[in-house]
Amino acid sequence: MKKHNFFAGPSILPQFTIEETIKGIQNFSDTGLSVLEISHRSKEFIAVVEEAQDLFKELLKIPEGYSVLFVGGGASTQFLMVAYNLLNKKAAYLNTGAWASKALKEAKLFGEVVEVASSKDKNFSYIPKGYEVPADVDYFHITTNNTIYGTEIREDLDVNVPLIADMSSDIFSRPIDVSKYDMIYGGAQKNLAPSGVTFVIIKNDILGKVDRPIPTMMNYQTHIDKDSMFNTPPVLPIFSALQTLRWLKAQGGVEAMEKINIEKAGWLYDEIERNKCFKPAVADKNDRSLMNICFVMAEGYEELEKDFLALATSKGMMGLKGHRSVGGFRASTYNALPQESVKALVEVMAEFEKNH
Ligand SMILES: *Cc1c(COP(=O)(O)O)cnc(C)c1O
Repeated sequence: MKKHNFFAGPSILPQFTIEETIKGIQNFSDTGLSVLEISHRSKEFIAVVEEAQDLFKELLKIPEGYSVLFVGGGASTQFLMVAYNLLNKKAAYLNTGAWASKALKEAKLFGEVVEVASSKDKNFSYIPKGYEVPADVDYFHITTNNTIYGTEIREDLDVNVPLIADMSSDIFSRPIDVSKYDMIYGGAQKNLAPSGVTFVIIKNDILGKVDRPIPTMMNYQTHIDKDSMFNTPPVLPIFSALQTLRWLKAQGGVEAMEKINIEKAGWLYDEIERNKCFKPAVADKNDRSLMNICFVMAEGYEELEKDFLALATSKGMMGLKGHRSVGGFRASTYNALPQESVKALVEVMAEFEKNH
């Protein structure tokens, strides 16, 4: 049976990425060796890193003066590295969910943290608005897509302090104006590659401004100076990321992705609104994520949650169960998820409605 992969992360990758990764594991770049067993300092692997950095710059139109890094440790290590390197006295955080809260918690180890706004009062089901970012902070940190709750900040914010964004789960889903950010980072395992590599896009001239000493591995300058090769980088995930970047370019880049993502999410949100059995978890349409679509049973249908999950699972749909802190369902509709998977889900929802 055809499987439809709605997992939130690690999650669906393009078939192209899987196939090219298998080829690279068998015979990397005509070396007669596997990408698993070759030096990260070989000219063939250095070419992989360089092409991946170039494609990041091309696809996201990254201006001059920024570096693209591939490091280990996941987005969770960035929570502390951001503050270690950039928080001198005071930083501002927008608290839009579990990941944002974790980033904020780490920052408190390094200085004063202002939580400018939070949507915790309603279980992070909306994006706070109308808040003010203090002018005297070292940076303002946001999480653009809240993977667990299905909310997303889909515009590039204008703030008058350096802006830093965790884009783990919506990078490459739409065009962004990188010049509005001083730093963008994320774990790769939502929209780019297998887990193990973390991307960092950082403006070079924001470094060197904190008073504290920074351990070598925690210092962004180390990774910029050594071009992500200070120590052994996550070789295989970087190799797979390159395949996804090539695929993205062949699809027409982030502009083409955004069009398809709007279409896919539109079909699903429309069905959630139309179908008497379901309702969206995020009420405000402007706050709804295009990547993680959260919905719950409508009033009067709550006890049928398990039945719908069982029906969807019987049709090959994987990973639909909502995060335990929200309940209901979460359909992750990342770039690599084909339109037919969304159509199949909409059909099962309609079938379920007819039967009840
Ligand atoms: C998954 C996720 C993280 C955590 O990433 P790790 O690589 O597991 O540390 C952080 N932020 C967001 C928005 C995420 O979706």
